[in-house]
Parts: sequence; structure tokens; C-alpha cells
Amino acid sequence: MEPSSVTTVSASPDPGPSPTDLLGRLRARGAGDPVTHVERVPARAGIPAPWPTWAPTELRAAFARRGVVAPWKHQAEAANLAYDGGHVVLATGTASGKSLAYQLPALATLSADPRATVLYLAPTKALAADQLRAVAALELDGVRPACYDGDTPRAEREWIRRHSRFVLTNPDMLHHSILPGHAQWSGFLRRLAYVVVDECHTYRGVFGSHVAHVLRRLRRQCARFGASPVFVLASATSGDPATAAGRLTGLPVTAVTEDASPRGGVTFALWEPPLLPSDSSAAASVPAQATGGHDDAPDLVQVRRSALRETADLLADTVAEGVRTLAFVRSRKGAEVVAANARRALDDAVPGLGDRVAAYRGGYLREERRELERALLHGDLLGLASTNALELGVDLIGLDAVLICGYPGTRASLWQQAGRAGRSGQEALAVLVARDDPLDTYLVHHPEAIFGAPVEATVLDPANPYVLAPQLACAAVEAPLTSADLALFGDGAKEAIDELVAAGALRQRPTGWYWRHRERPEVDLRGEGGAPVCVVESATGRLLGTVDGGSSHFLLHAGAVYLHQGVSYVVDELDLADGCALVHAEEPDWSTHARDVTDLSVVSVRSYVDAGPVGMFLGEVDVTSQVVSYQRRRIATGEVIDTRPLDLPTRELRTVAVWFTLSPQSLASAGVQSADVPGALHAAEHSAIGLLPLMATCDRWDIGGLSTAVHPDTEAPTVFVYDGHPGGAGFAERAYGTASAWLRATRDAIAECGCETGCPSCVQSPKCGNGNNPLSKPGAIRVLDVVLANLPA
Ligand SMILES: [Zn+2]
Ligand SMILES: [Zn+2]
Repeated sequence: MEPSSVTTVSASPDPGPSPTDLLGRLRARGAGDPVTHVERVPARAGIPAPWPTWAPTELRAAFARRGVVAPWKHQAEAANLAYDGGHVVLATGTASGKSLAYQLPALATLSADPRATVLYLAPTKALAADQLRAVAALELDGVRPACYDGDTPRAEREWIRRHSRFVLTNPDMLHHSILPGHAQWSGFLRRLAYVVVDECHTYRGVFGSHVAHVLRRLRRQCARFGASPVFVLASATSGDPATAAGRLTGLPVTAVTEDASPRGGVTFALWEPPLLPSDSSAAASVPAQATGGHDDAPDLVQVRRSALRETADLLADTVAEGVRTLAFVRSRKGAEVVAANARRALDDAVPGLGDRVAAYRGGYLREERRELERALLHGDLLGLASTNALELGVDLIGLDAVLICGYPGTRASLWQQAGRAGRSGQEALAVLVARDDPLDTYLVHHPEAIFGAPVEATVLDPANPYVLAPQLACAAVEAPLTSADLALFGDGAKEAIDELVAAGALRQRPTGWYWRHRERPEVDLRGEGGAPVCVVESATGRLLGTVDGGSSHFLLHAGAVYLHQGVSYVVDELDLADGCALVHAEEPDWSTHARDVTDLSVVSVRSYVDAGPVGMFLGEVDVTSQVVSYQRRRIATGEVIDTRPLDLPTRELRTVAVWFTLSPQSLASAGVQSADVPGALHAAEHSAIGLLPLMATCDRWDIGGLSTAVHPDTEAPTVFVYDGHPGGAGFAERAYGTASAWLRATRDAIAECGCETGCPSCVQSPKCGNGNNPLSKPGAIRVLDVVLANLPA
């Protein structure tokens, strides 16, 4: 998805300091050198390709009017594959012009065949609206592009179904409206030539698994009408995009990954905030107010300067140099802390200079946002601290420097943020400031994981029975299921149908399986793990949003600080019986972190590797967990204020886990004393969870873990890592498939952390149910060494 209107900073008469000079001054500021790596991403000249011979003259002319003289090589390659009838995924960087690659074959086909149609899917309405503007601007006769979403007035819907040949929508609309109403759409579906799936890397985990079946349902309806559309997918750069796109569509997909678009040069520095002197670390952090038996738990003890403080100082320094800088911070409150600290530092130096820094956040009105952008473009404002609101909002590019406070979770987001730096002909600076988190630590010490070939893959698991069964129910309503459909819906389809029959939802007849009820099944693509909980503002009765049942205990317990579109609320009450949480708007200067206690039993083993003293397993498990308390931590410093008890019921989860076992003898000979085994395994578990997002696009909050010196089901020292969603989401499976690379990275992250006994950057977890006790940093390294020495690579 390319921005339709991009605001670029005009070249200023004063080019300012070069990125190298600027970085030199920033890193000379403190005592040690916080920079772990500098990568010079060179400017790249684009490689143009000729227009495909099949592209009609009027289409080339339309693109030329929009400033496209010729396609880049990757665009032409993907377009040619698609025009020849192959399913293709284009996985290249931000602003590499992915839209031309699907617009070209799609629009050429619409021009060649006056009856053909195209369906375009975006993950959000805003993206579909952007794309509509881009297609409409080409002013092609007879295409009549139109958005069809929840906001489309009833009166226009029929016109779109009948006359539009380029319909832009989202997977939710396809699922809730278009597929159930297939009879009304038969004319459109019968003539469907292309399905474009934009930003397809966003379809991951349980949501991605649902979307995979929505696309299979679409293919099934098209087949009933005799159509077999070509799928063209666009993805951010990721590991193994062909496999991910193949799982998403159920079709063989060819990947085009070589980016041939031009880009400006960027000096990219990786920055690790320094360790605090050991005496001041005690002053900077207050031990947790003990509750629930964690009296002498070490808890999270901050040993590094916080990324927020470090980012604020960097922002102040770049602004003092007259450099236009954008700082990305993960939360709105964090953005405000960064802006406020930078302002204060600047005012101390030169009174009034602080006015040139502001915070930018979601929740502003469009005009307010525009005003801030204008001020930054014109140089009235030099520094802006922002949440990721900009990522999908108005596009602001061409800045001199970008500061990224904490790894934003995926390489796609990282490059999206870094891509705001650099204007044509001028070099820019980007700095990633590591938070105290194992993944951030690993990345600043392993630049190849950022700048080398991507390993992080988009994972989804269409075979998840908790997704498959409801999706088959939806499919059965649309048309009775037949045995020919079993192959389409893949592994587990027959079992899921049998269960739906046993539950009385389907009836088997000679002609197939029929839906038995009057109502359609209620299936929410984005909801998972039980009925969603509504978040309601008490004072106004306004529904702010919903949170899936599985996460509600973590996110919406009484006292939780809940962020909604960048606005902060505090939960007054979680009413599980009514499925709602009452909240009020408030911005305390702390964040909350819930903790749970967990029990786990193995249900079945799907696959395993027998590696002598080490075993590696993938299988189904039952997890019982209870959220028992939450911590309040100061946003600015990370300091723990207190831990408060909670009284919530236990939850049961059947899911997929990866686990490894070690023989007690192998641990003993590696020098792990038996008293240290629990702490060594526990520390390895925390860090392994923290590093899994390196291999798969997940959040550490999507994953749970458990470690024990002897587990009743394995009868050995064991570390479990499981998907936090019913039926699994593909994360544990990816971990199993990349076990040695994943655990190697985990081992290195722990070993390379400069702390002495373990810290949040290596083995401590903000989510630990045991107050980060016991933990053994040296023991964890030994445990992982034993595993890696025995496991085949
Ligand atoms: Zn550490
Ligand atoms: Zn723990």
C-alpha cells in the first residue's frame, strides 16, 4: 500500500550536520559508547524495466500522468507472473511501489475483458480508501472503483454490486456480508479475475488463520460460479513469504523479493542505553511491595538507563543541532514523557528552545495533526515525539533524523519508521534505542538480524480446530459442504465436520453436510479465546471497544491502565458475568502489568526429535492459568511502585506447545547444581519467549511458558513455550521448526547482556507469575549450551 499523498520536507537551504558528524557528537556525550553498531544503508539507484507488452497504451499513459514513467524491475516481474495466471506475492520494503505490481495486471485485464472484475482486500478501511483514491485518479473508463465496507450507504451497495468492476473491501466485510450474500454477488464473482490481498503480513496468528479460511470460502464460491481468480499478494519484507502466502490462500504462490526501487542513504545506529552505576540503580528502583508470598523476590530491578530517558536526551541534542527529528515511542504517555523531558533539557540550555518540541499522538483531530505536521515541515517545530499513529495515518517523510525508542516488534514496522528519514540527495540518520528487553538486547548486538536476510516469518495455522470448525459452519451456510471441499479446507477438516455433526450443527445427507439452524453462526475474525469483553466508559455509557476473552483478565482487571487509540483509561470493574469492563478516562503516570500462575499437562505429542540427553517436542497441551496480581510501574523510569493482588477465576486453554527436556545427568556435567536447575530453566524460558518474535511475527504477550525441574508428564527437567490462543496460532510450531536458530539467539542474548546476575534485558520477564524468582543467568546459558550441543542444526 503506497500513500496516495505524501508530504515531503522541502530541501532546506541549510543542510545541517552530516549524519556521521551528528552521530559522532551524540555518542560522545556520555561516559561509555552506547552505540553497538553503525550500518550505512547506501543510497540505491532504481532498476527500471520496460512496460510489459500486454499493458495497453491508455493504461501506460494514465500511469505516466501520475508520474510513473516506467515500472521498477520487481514491479514488472510480479505483474508479468500475475498476468500469466500465476499466484504471486511481492514482498519488498516500504514505498517500493507494490501497488503498481497488482494494479497493472488487474487494470490491463479489466481493459482487455470488459466484463472482468477485481476484488481488493486491505486490513483496514483507511488503506482501502487510500487505494480507492489511487485507482480513481487513473481515470480509466468503465472500471468504476468503489469501496464496499461497513460505512457504505445501503443505497449505494446495490449499485456497487451491479456496476463496479474494482471493489475494495476488507476480510471482515467479505466474511460478514459478501460471502453470506453471494447470491447477490454472483455476477461479480462469476467474472472475478483477480483477488488482491494487500499488506498480507498483517494476517497472522489466529486472525490470519480465520482470514485464510475466508479466502478459501471465497475460492469455493468463485468455483461454484466457474471462476478461478488469480491471487496477487503484497507483503512487507519477511522470512519465507511464499510459504506464508501459500498458507493464507491455500494455493501455490511464487514470491518476488528483490527490491529494485531507489532509496536515499541512511546512517543507521543501534544504541544500547548504558548500565546504571550499581549504587544509583538501587536508588532508581524501589523493590516491589511484596504480596502473595513473593516477599523476597528480586523482581524487576532496573539496571540500565531507560530507553525513554535516553530517547529524550537524544531528541534534545538533535533539536539543539537544528536537526528536524521524529521520535517514535510505543505509548502515548511515553511520547509525552519524551517530549516533556526534551523540552525541559532544551529550556535549561536556552530558555524558549523547548517550544520547538511537541508530542504527537492518536486522538488528535485531523486539523490539529495537520497543524503539527505543517509546523515540523516549515521548521517552526524541530522535534516531534509520536506514537505509531503516523504509521497508518498521514504520511510525513523526508526528516533529517528518526529516533526509534524500542524495537517496534517487527522488521516491517522498524523500516516503516526508519523510512521517515531521508530526502532525495541527502543522507539521514536513524537510531534504534534498545529497551531493556531480551529481543532489543539481541538485536543491538546482532545487526545481521536487522540488516541481513529476514528470518521473521508471518505465521498462521489454518488447521487450528478452534478456527476451522466455525469457518466450516460459515461455509456450510453458504452452500452445503461436500467431500470435494475437504481438500480445500485442508488438514483436520473431516474431523471438524464430524464434530459439528455430533454437536447437531450439521446434518449429513447423501448430497453433503447441511447447516441445521435458522441463524448463521456468529464468528468474529478478530475475536478469539471466548466471548469478547466490552469496554464501556462508565460516565457516558460509550462502548470503546472489545477485548477478546483470553486477554481480558490480563488487560481489563480492576485497576488496569487500558490504552485505546492512544487514550488512557483506568478500569473500575471487570464484570465477567456480563462480559464488560467499566472504565474512566485517566492518565496516571504508571502502567500496569498483570501476572498469572500456570499449570500445564501434555495431551499428545505431534512430533519430536530424540537428541540423546535432550528431547525437543511439539504437541497439544492443556494449560490452566489464573491471573493473580498486577504490578504498577512508573512509565518514565520503569520503577516498580507496588504489586496488588487480584481475585479472578482460573482459565483453561487447550493449545499447541513446543518443549525441550534435558537429562539431569547432562545438566550436572554441564555444571548446573541441582539447586540451580529451577532458576536456570526458568531464566532460559523467559529469554526464549522474549526471542521468539525474532523468528515469527508475534508479541511476547501472544506466548506463555512454564519450566520445572521435573514435570510429571516428561519426568525430566523441562521448558515449555505455548501459544496463548485456543488451538494454537502457529508460533510454537514455528519455534519447533527453527529450534536451533531460535535457542542459539536466546543463548547469545543472555550471554551478551552486560549485567551481572540477570536483568529485564536478558532473563527477567515483565509478565512472570513468580516475581522473577528463582532465576539463574549463568545456569540458563549452560542449559542452552547443552541443548544446542545435542540438537541437530
Ligand atoms: Zn541482563
Ligand atoms: Zn517466570
